[in-house]
Amino acid sequence: MKTDVVIIGAGASGLMCAIEAGKRGRSVLVLDHSQRVAGKVRISGGGRCNFSNRIMGRENYISLNPHFVTSALSRFTPSDFLSIVESHGIRYHEREAGQLFCDENSHQIIDMLRSECDKAAVRIELNRKVLGISNTDGSNTRCFKVSTDGDIFDSESLVIATGGLSYPNLGASNFGYSVAKQFGLNVTKLYPALTPLRFSPEDASLYGSLAGISIYSTVSCAGAKFQGNLLFTHNGISGPAILQVSSYWDRESSLTIDLLPDLDIYAVMLEKRHSKIHPSTILDHYLPKRFVKLWCDLHGASRPINQCSQSELDSIARGLHGWRLRPGGAEGFNKAEVTLGGVDTDELSSRTMESRKVRGLYFLGEVIDVTGHLGGYNLHWAWASGYAGGQFA
Ligand SMILES: Cc1cc2nc3c(=O)[nH]c(=O)nc-3n(C[C@H](O)[C@H](O)[C@H](O)COP(=O)(O)OP(=O)(O)OC[C@H]3O[C@@H](n4cnc5c(N)ncnc54)[C@H](O)[C@@H]3O)c2cc1C
Repeated sequence: MKTDVVIIGAGASGLMCAIEAGKRGRSVLVLDHSQRVAGKVRISGGGRCNFSNRIMGRENYISLNPHFVTSALSRFTPSDFLSIVESHGIRYHEREAGQLFCDENSHQIIDMLRSECDKAAVRIELNRKVLGISNTDGSNTRCFKVSTDGDIFDSESLVIATGGLSYPNLGASNFGYSVAKQFGLNVTKLYPALTPLRFSPEDASLYGSLAGISIYSTVSCAGAKFQGNLLFTHNGISGPAILQVSSYWDRESSLTIDLLPDLDIYAVMLEKRHSKIHPSTILDHYLPKRFVKLWCDLHGASRPINQCSQSELDSIARGLHGWRLRPGGAEGFNKAEVTLGGVDTDELSSRTMESRKVRGLYFLGEVIDVTGHLGGYNLHWAWASGYAGGQFA
């Protein structure tokens, strides 16, 4: 069976590419091994789909080549996605730091994508297992054969939009990376990212009892710094600030955590220096009581403040503003929102997403070595790279 474009992966980037290629009059077939399209979009943003972000730039992405995203992001902006959302009457709202969410639920975005696919006469086949791919006439001609558990498809363009490794229960697989390697393209090292971090065994016994507590913090690591909630879990730390920094954590170094980023707690304690108040009573105003009790027990801050030396107060303050914590590990792909690393951007054109080595072979979305920060950036990369690929595939 012949078609102009075969896209493997009916997720965010694959569907966006299909719509754009279909609008250009290309015959487009999308294949996916899952039972439903866009499984990750469905669960994204806690079911409300954080589909983009008003504040968009290359500094919101991690890649060995930080400039790679610039072209695609400039040609498909958050406003471009919003105009599609608005044309479908989907109501949305903006949360802190420019994050854009549906008012109702992520199904609306999926229905929107499906309806745009219908308009562009895109064919979608689900439950399709791809058994093999070949480039029938060598790497300089656009001629691919895609064998599935049903038919065999011949196409001029082959688009790989199979996403990353996270959430295998939603259809994630290493397919895209294998295809890249099959055609001689380099794939960078892959890590789980936007993921909770685990305590070391010693820290687990010290801090495990804090599970459920959330503290607004600044977390820094390897030159990156994020502000947001830090959530204690039974075996580690999570929450937006930790998920963000996990993408930068090198598996070795310590995180530096400021548990009171908007306050100079040393100055606050100095003001009360001559009173009989306990440091914990002061800290209780700013931090959860359960945390304060444990922190003061661990740091020996049990005497009234007028009996503490200036250097003891300084040490309590420095601990709270610069808590050094060395994680014992990161949660794996089952809990990570995304995969860090992927098809090396040096292998692809940043304008078209086409392979430099194999004409007609395109890679889109998360399978590429481009990882967004938390806040709608990964879906926006899927839309923007899908849009770019769809103009040429
Ligand atoms: C829990 C969770 C919440 C998230 N929330 C957000 C959010 O709110 N905002 C945000 O920006 N990002 C979010 N993300 C990240 C975002 O969903 C992904 O980065 C984005 O969906 C990637 O798009 P993609 O098209 O590259 O891949 P995907 O959307 O993952 O699509 C890949 C498709 O390929 C199919 N596939 C895989 N292997 C094969 C194969 N061998 N054969 C055929 N088909 C195959 C899969 O079934 C899937 O349909 C979240 C991720 C998770 C896990």
